[in-house]
Amino acid sequence: MKVSFFPPDMFENDREFLLDTIYRVGTSESFILGKNVAALEERFRKETGAGEAIAVHSGTGAVSVSLRAAGIGPGDEVIVQAFCCQPVAEEVINVGARPAFVDIDSRTMVMDPSLIEARVTPRTKAIMPAHLFSALVDMSAVNAVARKHRLTVIEDACVQQGAVRDGLPAGLMGDVGTYSFFQMKVMGGCGEGGMIVTNDKSLASACRAIRNHGQEGKTRFLHERLGTNSRMDEVMAAFLLRRFDALPRMLRRRTEIAKYYGARFVSLAERVVLPDSVGEERCHYMYCIQTSERDALRAHLAGRGIASHVYYPIPLPMQGAFLVYADPTYSIENSKRASNENLALPIYPHLTDAQAEAVADAVVSFFA
Ligand SMILES: *Cc1c(COP(=O)(O)O)cnc(C)c1O
Repeated sequence: MKVSFFPPDMFENDREFLLDTIYRVGTSESFILGKNVAALEERFRKETGAGEAIAVHSGTGAVSVSLRAAGIGPGDEVIVQAFCCQPVAEEVINVGARPAFVDIDSRTMVMDPSLIEARVTPRTKAIMPAHLFSALVDMSAVNAVARKHRLTVIEDACVQQGAVRDGLPAGLMGDVGTYSFFQMKVMGGCGEGGMIVTNDKSLASACRAIRNHGQEGKTRFLHERLGTNSRMDEVMAAFLLRRFDALPRMLRRRTEIAKYYGARFVSLAERVVLPDSVGEERCHYMYCIQTSERDALRAHLAGRGIASHVYYPIPLPMQGAFLVYADPTYSIENSKRASNENLALPIYPHLTDAQAEAVADAVVSFFA
């Protein structure tokens, strides 16, 4: 059975809605930051309980605008995970600051809060933990370090929309949180999109101004500060509002598949690191396992028509783009191991039971 890693027909059922929306927006007078964007922001406030939600043009835009709103710039340092995606370090540099890489927890593959304090210097201004796969960073531990050193916590929840811990949604566990609507994310759209949530009114109004060239939003061509263009468009906002209705069902299906894999893989626990056991309020964006036999397993799956993916094959401090920011005396052993050993298995709402079974069979047969 052939199982693709990304669903091939994601928006097939949305054809009519999409065509109609493009026509309606295209023949209206409002293409960006109009009533659809306002409705989407309102929906986010309701769903998350956030005081403020600011729609932007991508998850990267959300990270970048948040950094700028927090006043981070030249001379500042921001603590980011060594094992993560490009934007977290890239946007820190793009606002003129420096990333300080911190190693990860070897089991969960996300930021290990016990390692943060050793990376704090007099220049540190913020910590930017990123939730990855199906793992949430221990945000109360991160917040404790942040409080002690008076740092801003920018919570990258780009892949954890819908996850909840201790009653708090991912995105509202730090000072400001970000989401992405890139097509593969849990509420992916048919293009680019992002959202910032916060309970801090002054951060929110800074974000609003920065996403639209520093305009406060009332008077046009009045620029009190520098900004950029990180605006969301009306077609995307309308489409994302529609996707919201399906979010609980999509999250439930992801959880179902994660539970199924977990049950099938119990006997592999000696040779494979499995994601932590599942709870109902988890967001199973990726099902990532870790094994020293990763490359052979991947080839075995491919031989059976099953696609898999490696996130991320090279830790950030080892990427050419960041070599000059890396501290060669600092150990990123866990990040290196995660890069060498992690493998993401197909998990998405479209995946059928038969496909999930084929994936599990193929994994189990490799270790038999
Ligand atoms: C995808 C992603 C981003 C960036 O989002 P885009 O919408 O693709 O710009 C940032 N952080 C994390 C953890 C992501 O997975």
